[in-house]
Amino acid sequence: MLSRARPSEARSTLVGTARAFATLLLAAAVAISGSTNAFAQGVPVVRDAEIEALVGDYARPIFRAAGLANDGIDIVLVNDQSFNAFVTGRRLFINTGALMTAETPNEIIGVIAHEAGHIAGGHQQKLRDQLERAKTMAILATLLGAGAIVAGATTNSRGLAGAGMGVAAGSGEMAQRSILAYQRGEEIIADRSAITYLNATGQSGMGMLKTFARFQSALSLAGTQVDPYRISHPIPQERIANLEALVKQSPYVGKVDPPALQQRHDMMRIKIAAYMQGQAAVARLMRKYPGSLASRYGDAQVTYLYGNPGAALVKTAALIKEQPKNPYFQELRGDILMKVNKPKDAAEAYAKAVSLDPARSGLLQVSLGQALLAVGTPDSAKKAVTQLNNGIGRDKENAEAYRYLAQAYGEQGDISAADLATAEGHFYSGDYKNAKIFAMRAQQKLKRGEPRWLRAQDIINYTPSNKLK
Ligand SMILES: [Zn+2]
Repeated sequence: MLSRARPSEARSTLVGTARAFATLLLAAAVAISGSTNAFAQGVPVVRDAEIEALVGDYARPIFRAAGLANDGIDIVLVNDQSFNAFVTGRRLFINTGALMTAETPNEIIGVIAHEAGHIAGGHQQKLRDQLERAKTMAILATLLGAGAIVAGATTNSRGLAGAGMGVAAGSGEMAQRSILAYQRGEEIIADRSAITYLNATGQSGMGMLKTFARFQSALSLAGTQVDPYRISHPIPQERIANLEALVKQSPYVGKVDPPALQQRHDMMRIKIAAYMQGQAAVARLMRKYPGSLASRYGDAQVTYLYGNPGAALVKTAALIKEQPKNPYFQELRGDILMKVNKPKDAAEAYAKAVSLDPARSGLLQVSLGQALLAVGTPDSAKKAVTQLNNGIGRDKENAEAYRYLAQAYGEQGDISAADLATAEGHFYSGDYKNAKIFAMRAQQKLKRGEPRWLRAQDIINYTPSNKLK
């Protein structure tokens, strides 16, 4: 399932306090684009196991070739139709709009390679430091909630929060200077580095060229929205010409994406269309990929989201027959079965999804735990505890997962564990006050000094200034 940011009716795959997170994410975007218009609109973060895994597969070889992040990076999907992508530390932020615009994996991989070139080259350290702070703030937002950040910003203008809010508020001088500081020389170096990484991984630079050429063309000015990426990457004609020459010198210029990767890309695009844009957008893509697996995937999702769950199950069964090892078809089956209140069958489908998932996404494990919890027997509650803890182990800030975990502990009669999980859920969704209340409640039934007691103490002791470093 691909989940929109809806803090009040959060689902298992949703980041808690996504809105606060997104708002602060926008602080970073402002630093790049210099535009405050986008800031006012807000941009939600979305979670989806399939898309996170795919973008991770795009990025991993490039990052390895660039000597960055050997053990993987976190993918943060931003629900925004404009084109943007940037890397801070070990996080790759990418707009759903960029994924929808790119017709091939190679276009996204090329952009990631270019961004990796900036990072590896140590470019724009100042701007990137600002983004890093904004990223830290985004994490803090999930811990503290937007209210705390705003309060922090007003009382402590020299702290992290202050820096971030300065970025947010300062469409003016600082952001402008940051953008102007993007030197043409650095763009050319990043282009060259990108080609090096693409060559090292045996991939073409044509996708990168296509993306930059599209930004450069007059056509891209015709749209009503301006892509942040385009503004952060001034692209004079000369640069396109240089890039084109480099791309064409590569022995891999004619290399196309492997068909299986292209198929996953098409399925990703149709999924974004189904969950974010509605039936008409899916129908458009279905016409584009007639008779394809992606087209049938889109059809099954639309039938589930807007139509008849029974018919969606039949369509999903056909998909599973065609690709029995695809974890996300099993996930879709689980989602549909949850919708028709068959948690036991849903749990079986999610369990298959978990066992098939090479990316070992915590999101799928949480879905499994949620379904087991809904089964409602003591045995299933016990299994739910295990699965939810597994999911949290991979995805520590998933506030919703803690809420299900608290419920599962509660059904087992383990009240102190339930209270501590409730405290964690509040903590990661930014309700700091209630987090402390439940942490204190948990401590009353725990032995002083044991690991859970200590964790509760951490929550009780937590103050924003402790972590703003
Ligand atoms: Zn660049």
